[in-house]
Amino acid sequence: MCIRDILEGIRLAVRQLERGEHRVENAYPRAVREEGNPAAVRMIEEVFEVTDRNWRGIGPIPLSGWRLTDAFRSYDAEHRFDVTGIRTEEPAECRSGEVLQGLIKPTECEAFGTTCTPRNPLGATMVSSEGACAAYYLYRRMNAATPQAERAAREEMNPVA
Ligand code: SF4
Repeated sequence: MCIRDILEGIRLAVRQLERGEHRVENAYPRAVREEGNPAAVRMIEEVFEVTDRNWRGIGPIPLSGWRLTDAFRSYDAEHRFDVTGIRTEEPAECRSGEVLQGLIKPTECEAFGTTCTPRNPLGATMVSSEGACAAYYLYRRMNAATPQAERAAREEMNPVA
């Protein structure tokens, strides 16, 4: 992959945006074929099967996840250790489901930057540094920041770095 491929991906995304479209489009046909990688697809189908999954902050979505097939069930920690009933609900004040769906911006959540920070995250979108709430937290602070505040924000996001 080179810069031309990245620019082509951006061009195709902008074109879809302007046309009001939203679909999967291959911006890398030199290496990615329409039918995918048949050997890899066969392997995935041998090891995994589609199942319903409960998504943190959103809830259950039918046929949205994977689980190991019966042939590999002995490697499935959920099955092997009888792990059931894991609850992934966020605290009531957390609106990460709405953030994940693009319905609100992180700053519209009352807990943002007050009771919810990267050091004390309430929801999935503040837990990881790639999460929308964590990114807003970091860059909002950096926007109005002095070099010292910027460094403090970075250290808060990566305490061991
Ligand atoms: S700021 Fe925290 S509490 Fe609010 S939606 Fe994001 S993760 Fe949830």
